[in-house]
Amino acid sequence: MKTLKGIGGSKGYAAGTAILKRGQAKPEKYAVTDGAAEEARFRKAQDVCEARFAELEERAVRDIGPDEAEIFGAYRMILRDDAFFKKAIDRSKSDSVNIEYAIYEECRGVMGMFEAMDDPYLKERAADIENVCNEVILCLSGGGSDFAIEAGSVSDVIVVAEDLTPAETVKMDKSRIRGFVTEKGGITSHTVILAKALGIPAIIGAEGIMGELSGKERLILDAYEGTVGINPDDAAFADFMKTCDKDKELQLQYGLSAGQPANTIDGFHIDVLVNTGDADSIKAFDAGKCDGIGLLRTEFIYMGRSDYPDENAQYEAYSDIARRASGKEVIIRTLDIGGDKQLGYMDIPKENNPFLGYRAIRLCLDRPEVFHTQLRAILRASSCGNVKVMFPMIVTLEELRSAKECVEKAKRSLRADGLPFNENIAVGIMVETPAAALLADLLAKEADFFSIGSNDLIQYVTATDRMNDRVQYLYDSCNLSVLRAIRMVAQSAVREGIPWGICGEVASDERLLPVWIALGVSELSIVQSQVGKIKHLIGRLSKAGLAPEIERMYALGSIEEVKAFLDGMLLELREAR
Ligand code: PEP
Ligand code: MG
Repeated sequence: MKTLKGIGGSKGYAAGTAILKRGQAKPEKYAVTDGAAEEARFRKAQDVCEARFAELEERAVRDIGPDEAEIFGAYRMILRDDAFFKKAIDRSKSDSVNIEYAIYEECRGVMGMFEAMDDPYLKERAADIENVCNEVILCLSGGGSDFAIEAGSVSDVIVVAEDLTPAETVKMDKSRIRGFVTEKGGITSHTVILAKALGIPAIIGAEGIMGELSGKERLILDAYEGTVGINPDDAAFADFMKTCDKDKELQLQYGLSAGQPANTIDGFHIDVLVNTGDADSIKAFDAGKCDGIGLLRTEFIYMGRSDYPDENAQYEAYSDIARRASGKEVIIRTLDIGGDKQLGYMDIPKENNPFLGYRAIRLCLDRPEVFHTQLRAILRASSCGNVKVMFPMIVTLEELRSAKECVEKAKRSLRADGLPFNENIAVGIMVETPAAALLADLLAKEADFFSIGSNDLIQYVTATDRMNDRVQYLYDSCNLSVLRAIRMVAQSAVREGIPWGICGEVASDERLLPVWIALGVSELSIVQSQVGKIKHLIGRLSKAGLAPEIERMYALGSIEEVKAFLDGMLLELREAR
C-alpha cells in the first residue's frame, strides 16, 4: 500500500472511494480547419452540460435545500451567455484552434480581469464562470462526468482535490462524504473549519496526491497522523477498520461528555463553549451539548448583502441565538471585517498589507455610526440571555477605552428610547496581537475578560501570513514565542482576577490542552464537534499534576523539542484511556 503524508486538519479516521475534484482543466491545443464543426461541437456540449446542471439542481433541492440549489440556475445562465462563448467561438475560428482550448483561453482572460478586482462578490462570480467553463471543457475533451455526478454514484466518498473553495465545499452533498484530502490549504482554511464543524476527517498538504490517483481508488485516512493509504490490501484494510471501531467507541463516550460539566481530576472547572458565525454552525448550535458560545463571529450578518444590516435585523439574529443558549454565555464579537474579509459596500480602500491595515476595531472606531448600530443591537439582545460583548484586534489601551465609551453611548441612547438591556453587560477583548499580549497587565485592569485569538496571534507573533502555504511551516503554535505570549496573558488575567479563554483553533488541540489547563484557562471555545472530546480529556487531567510538567516544557527551546515533549504526555494520556 502506498502511503502519502499530509497534515491532519480535522482529526479522525475515514475509509472510502477517492473522487477527484479537479481544478481548471488544461485542454490539449491542436489545429483545426473546420471552424463550423468546432462550433457545432460546442453547441452539443452546451446541451449536455445544461442537462447536467438541471440534474444537479434537482438533486441539490432534494438533498440540501433550495437555497443551495440556486447556484445551478446561475450556472445555466452563464452557460447560455452567448456574448462570452461567442468570443471563444470566434477565437477558435480565427486562430484555427480547437474549441475547448479557445474556451480555456477566454476563461483565463476573464479570470485575470476579475482577479484584479477587490470585490469578493465579483470574485465569487468569476469562480462560477470558471466552474462552468471547466464543465464544458471536460465535456468536450471526453471527460464525461463531473465531480458531483461521480460522487453521487458512490456511498462513501473521500474528496481529493488540489484545493477546495468554501463554495465548493458547501455545495457538496456531505451525507456521503467520509473525508477530505487536499494538496494545498492551511490548518485554518475554510475546508478544515467546515470539516471540523461537520465532524468529517480532513487531511491537508498531501502534496502530489492528485498525481497518484485516477479516481475510484480505495483510500484509508488517518487524520490524526495525517496519512493517506492508497489501495490497502484486505489485511491492512481489516486492521484499519478495527482501529476505526475503537475510535467510534471513544466518540460515543465523547458524545456523553459534551453535555456534562468539565472538571479536572483535582476539581478545576473549565467551560467548553463553541465558535459560531456561519449558517451551518449556527444551525448546529445545541446549548445542551456545550457551555454556550465563546465566539460569535458577526461578519455573517454583513455578508452577501448590498448595504449594512440595520439594527433590527442584527437584534433579531443576536437575540435568537441568545435565547437558544438558554441562559448560557454568548460572547458576541463586534465586526471584524477587513484583512482577508472585504465587503464591496464598505468601500474599503486597497491596501498593501490588509492584515496590518484598516480592519476590525480600527474600522469600527473610524465609522462610529456602523459601530453604534451594532452595539445597540448587541445590548438589546443582552436582555434576552447571558450576552457579553468582545472587541477584536485591540492594540492599545486607548482603543479599549474608546470602544467602551461607544458601549456607554449606546447604553445612553437605549435608555433614552426606553429599550431594555443588561446594564452590567461584560465587555472583553480578544488578545490576538503581540501588542495586546505585551499590554495584558494593563488591559486586564480595564477589560472584563480576555479571549485569546490564537489564529491571529500566531500569525502576528511569528510574522507569518496564516493563509500563505509557502510559509505555513513557520505558523506554529508550538513556537515558544507563541506559548510565552499566551502565558503572559494568562498570568495577567489571573493576577487581576478576570476570566481568560482561548477561541482560536489551538483551543481544541489535544496536544496543547495540558498547557492551557496548567496555565489556569477559564474557558475554551471550539467547534461543536470537538466539545465532547475536549471535555472528556479535561476529566482525565490534573491541573496541579500538570503544572510542574508544563514548567519543564517552558524551559525547552526549539519547536521540535516542545512537540516531542507534549507528544510524550499525550501518549501517556492515550495509554491511560
Ligand atoms: C483568532 O484570530 O484566533 C480568531 C478566533 O478570530 P478569526 O479566526 O475570526 O480571525
Ligand atoms: Mg482573529
